[in-house]
Amino acid sequence: MIDLRSDTFTRPTKEMRRAMADAEVGDDVWGEDPTVRELEEETAALLGKESALYVTSGHMANQLGLWVSSRSGEEVWAHENHHLIGDEQGAAVVLSRVLPRLYSGDPFPPAELLERWIAGLGNVHRADPALLWLENTFSGRVVPLDEQRRVTDFAHAHGLKAHLDGARLWNAAVHLGVEPAGVAEGFDTVSVCFSKGLGAPVGSAVAGDADTIRRARRGRKLLGGGMRQAGVIAAGALYALRHHRARLAEDHARATRLAARVDALPGLNAVARTNMVLVTTPEGEADRYLEAFAAQGVRALGGGDRIRMVMSLEITDGDVEEAATALARAVEGLRPIAGQSGDASVHLADHTGGPNPEGVAHHIA
Ligand SMILES: *Cc1c(COP(=O)(O)O)cnc(C)c1O
Repeated sequence: MIDLRSDTFTRPTKEMRRAMADAEVGDDVWGEDPTVRELEEETAALLGKESALYVTSGHMANQLGLWVSSRSGEEVWAHENHHLIGDEQGAAVVLSRVLPRLYSGDPFPPAELLERWIAGLGNVHRADPALLWLENTFSGRVVPLDEQRRVTDFAHAHGLKAHLDGARLWNAAVHLGVEPAGVAEGFDTVSVCFSKGLGAPVGSAVAGDADTIRRARRGRKLLGGGMRQAGVIAAGALYALRHHRARLAEDHARATRLAARVDALPGLNAVARTNMVLVTTPEGEADRYLEAFAAQGVRALGGGDRIRMVMSLEITDGDVEEAATALARAVEGLRPIAGQSGDASVHLADHTGGPNPEGVAHHIA
């Protein structure tokens, strides 16, 4: 089975396990785990921030980023498809008790929208905005750095903080050919993940200035997220951070290759976005395709007319070849069953330049 559901399914490599077995550890709640400290310092340096905090998950990193920059009743401005909104059980509302103000469409808020939202500021009826939220990559898509800069500049000009959900920031940096700090620039807080593309077994980090991260550390304890000899898992994250960033380019190349092969299949449109292949199927048929793919040995995720396939550490060139062949076989098998006069090209035409293919990647980790 070739598992392309997500880049979270990777298992630690032998070298990573060795680093974990050999890790020097201490009590991290007391700040005495040298491996965790090393991971936090190296992460902060890579992101161009003063300080970073190792946490259990991207979810916690995001929630702490929100927690340190907002007060109850304030607004967070975000995209309706941001992980913060659709994939964290409403924790923003439960924990920080903020009011999400949401936009849709573009992966970053258009200037005129921001102007409109800021216009009523100070009005007695309105909640005060606390921060602007961005994601990069956003469903695999790289947000251009000048767009990011426009948004963070706007935030700061109006007294808002800016947070970057950088669960796949490493992919964005590799794609753009810049240092991670280049992607994190301009944000007050940024969250990054060690267990997606980098392939570590556990953990994320939130980074920012020293005082902000000191408060995030208190917030982590408040949530019960203090960990004792966490160096054992931090060593895996540290190994991944040092050895698995540059190789993300291979994932992107494989996604590009697989997307081209899938796009050539009748009835399907596919594009590559960093390490993701985003596929559009005929309306409502994603489930049927997913079933057929699984029967041929390829697992993917999706629903409606969208399917997502994600490249990661364990997916080889051979797997891409094998997956492409298996998907072609699956599609071949589907056509007569569909009984749509065998004219799959109708669907192809319908979906050319059709709905934004990024939609599929939302609401799935
Ligand atoms: C996966 C993901 C997260 C959350 O990470 P977990 O470690 O699964 O909690 C946050 N944001 C984005 C954009 C993600 O893709």
